[in-house]
Amino acid sequence: MVHMKVVQPESVFNRHPLPMWIHDRQTFAFLEVNEKLLTVLGYDRFEFLRMKTGDILPQNKPPPLSLNSNPDFPSGHSPALLQIRCKDGSFLQVHVLSVPWEDDNPVAVLVTLLLLRDVSLESRTLEARLRISEFSHSHSLDELLRKTLDESEALTGSTIGFFHFVEEDQKTVFLQNWSTNTLKNMCTADGKLQHYSIDLAGVWVDCIRLARPVIHNDYPNLKIKKGLPPGHAHLSRILTVPIFRGGMIVAVLGVGNKPTDYDENDVLAVNLLADLAWDINLAKRVEETLRASESSYRSVMDQASDGIFIADLSGRYLDVNRAGCEMLGYTREEVLRESMQTLAVNDKSTPLRFAELMEGKTVISEREMIHKDGRRISVEISAKKLDDGRLQGIVRDITERKNEEERVRYLANVMNRISSVVISTDVELRITQWNRAAEELYGWKESEVIGRVIDEVCQTEFQENQRQEAHYDLTHEKRWQGELKQHHRDGRELWIAASNTLLEDERGIYIGNVTINHDITKRKRAEDDLRRAKNAIEEINTALQRAFEREQLASRTDGLTGIFNRRYFFELLDYEFSVSARYQRPMSIVMFDIDHFKQINDTHGHMVGDEVLKLVAETARSQLRDADVLARYGGDEFVILLPNSHAQDAEFVFKRVHKKLLSSNLKMRDQEIPISISVGIANYQPGMETTSQLVQQADQALYAAKNSGRSRIVVSDEED
Ligand code: GH3
Ligand code: MG
Repeated sequence: MVHMKVVQPESVFNRHPLPMWIHDRQTFAFLEVNEKLLTVLGYDRFEFLRMKTGDILPQNKPPPLSLNSNPDFPSGHSPALLQIRCKDGSFLQVHVLSVPWEDDNPVAVLVTLLLLRDVSLESRTLEARLRISEFSHSHSLDELLRKTLDESEALTGSTIGFFHFVEEDQKTVFLQNWSTNTLKNMCTADGKLQHYSIDLAGVWVDCIRLARPVIHNDYPNLKIKKGLPPGHAHLSRILTVPIFRGGMIVAVLGVGNKPTDYDENDVLAVNLLADLAWDINLAKRVEETLRASESSYRSVMDQASDGIFIADLSGRYLDVNRAGCEMLGYTREEVLRESMQTLAVNDKSTPLRFAELMEGKTVISEREMIHKDGRRISVEISAKKLDDGRLQGIVRDITERKNEEERVRYLANVMNRISSVVISTDVELRITQWNRAAEELYGWKESEVIGRVIDEVCQTEFQENQRQEAHYDLTHEKRWQGELKQHHRDGRELWIAASNTLLEDERGIYIGNVTINHDITKRKRAEDDLRRAKNAIEEINTALQRAFEREQLASRTDGLTGIFNRRYFFELLDYEFSVSARYQRPMSIVMFDIDHFKQINDTHGHMVGDEVLKLVAETARSQLRDADVLARYGGDEFVILLPNSHAQDAEFVFKRVHKKLLSSNLKMRDQEIPISISVGIANYQPGMETTSQLVQQADQALYAAKNSGRSRIVVSDEED
C-alpha cells in the first residue's frame, strides 16, 4: 500500500487541538493522523497508519459524510455519534464530523472528533457537579461561582479561573469572579464587577465573537492580541467557554495556564460545570427574587394602615395583614380559621355583589364586621378578585368616621334649631357653615354663601379701629366681642352683636373662626330714639330754663332802672325780717323820694324824668354794700333794705348817698337839673310783728322829712 502524503508534518492539521484523521473512503485506510488523536486513543503514528477505519470503529462502518442540512450546524455539517476503540481496549463515545478533505483528492475524508469523552473525566466532572450543587445550598452566589471556578481549575489542571457575565447587548462583559487560586497567586488588581466592551478585550473573548469554546495553547505568541483587562493575570494557555441561554451568550467561564495544552476534554468539563453554575445561579436568583418579593409583599401588607384580607372563593381567609388583625382584635392564625361568613355581618341591605367581583370589578361597599369582643365595627371594603382567583378585600375602619358624621349631623341639626346666628369660617374667612338663623337674618341661603368671604356677604362696616381691635383680641384672647353694622341681602342696615371665637385643631393650629351673632337692630334703634328724645328734652329744658330765668329776672326787677322792684323787695324783706326776728339781728330800711319830681317832668319832659330816675338809682347803688337791697318802691320813690345794720349806720350811709346825688346833678342840654331827695329811716325793733310795721315807720319818717322842708333825712324814733 502506497502511503499518500496528504499533509505537511508542521501543518495546522498536525498542531490542531482537536483529534483528527484523514482516511480513504474507498479503501478505508488511514492516510493521516494528528498528534492529538494519537494522544487521545493511545496509538503511535505508524501503528495507526497501518490500520483501517474498521479497526477502531466496532460497527466496522466508516462515519458517513456529514453533509446533510441540519439547521443547528450552519456549516452544513452534521456530527455523527460513534464509539471508537482505544489502544487499551476501552471505548470512547464521540461525535465525529466527516468532510471531504480536498477537491483534488476526492477519496480523502477528514474526520474530526468532537466532544471526545473521557470516561474518567466524565465521572470526575459528575462528582464536581455534585459538589457544586451541594455547595450551592449553603453559599452565596459569589461563593458558588468561585467554587465552580476552583472545581474547573482542578478538573483541567489550570491555575487560573475567571467568570464573566455578558450583557444582553452581547458587547459588554463584566468580571463576576476569580478563582481562589487566581486571587491568591496571580491577580493584583481588583477588576471585579468592572464593565468593559468586548471590542477592547483581547482574544480571550473570542469565544463570544465566535460563539463557541475557544482554546489558545500558545497565548504569548498570538499575533492579534489586544491585551487583558487591567490586573489580569499573566497567561500562557487559555480556554474560554461561552454559556448560552435562549440563543444568547450569558456568561463566559475561562480557565488558564494548564501546564499542557487544553483539549476537548477540558472544553467538555468546563462546559458542564459552567452550565451547572449558570443554572444554579439562575435558580438562586429566582429564589432570591421570590424571597425578596415575598418579604416585600409581607412588608407592604403589614405597613398598610388598612386591613387587607385575602380569601378564597368560598370566603375562607387565606391571609391577613397586621392592620386587619388589629382592627378585629384577632391574631393572624385566628383570622385564618375564620371566613367572610363569620367575621362580616351579612346584611340583606348590603349584598356581597359576587357577580360584579367575578367580572373583575372592584366593589366598594360599607358594611359591618365583628370584633373579637363582639363589638360591631363599621367598615368600608374595597373588594376585588385577584389574578390568581383569590379575593382581596381592603378594609378600612370607619367607625370613627361614622361617629363623626353622626356628630356633625347632630350638630348641624342643633345649629339649625337654635335662634342664634352661627357662622363658621376657614382661615381665609370664607364661610364653611351658615345656619338657618343666619339664612333668616341676612336673607342668603347657605348654599349661596358657602365659600364666600363673610364680610363681603354681610357687608360688614367696621367702626373706627374696630378691625384692629378684633384682630388684637382674637390673637391674644382667641375671642372678640363687639357690635357691628352689617346688611341684609336687600340692603337693609342691621346692627349685630357678634361673639367671635378662634378655632384651633388638636395641635393648636388655627383652622378658622366661629361667630355667634345676635340682631340688635331694634335695640340700637330704640337707643337712638331714646338718645334723640333725650337731646330734644334737654334742649327744651335749657330753653325753658332760660325763659324762666328771664322771666324771673323780669319779675324781680324794675324795667327802667334795672334795680329790684317792689314785689321782690317785699319777698326779701319777709326773709330778712324773719332772720332778724329769729336771731335778734339788727336791720333797717330806708325810704327816699325825689323832691319835686313832677316839676322836672313838667319842665324837661318825661324822658329827662326817666334819666333822673336812672341816675338816682345808679348813684344809690354805687354807694351801697352787696348785701344791701335797693328797690324801686313806685313812681319816684325808692326803698333800701340794709340787713345787719342799725338806723345810725343807715343814716351814715345815706348821707353819703345824698351828698353824692347833690353833687352829680344831671346835666341836660347844657342845663343843670338840681336833684334832691327826702329820706325816712326805720329800725327793726325786737317785738315787731310784721314787715309792714317797719315799712310804715320808714314811710312816716319820709313823710316827716317832706313836711319838714325836704332834702333831709328823718330817722324814725318809734321804739315799740
Ligand atoms: P314832692 O316833693 O312832694 O314829692 O313833690 P313831687 O312833685 O315830687 O310830687 P309827687 O311825688 O306826688 O309826684 C310824683 C310825680 O312823678 C307824679 C308822676 O307824674 C311822676 N312820675 C311817676 N312815675 C314817673 C315815671 O316813671 N317817669 C316820669 N318821668 N315821671 C313819673
Ligand atoms: Mg316826689
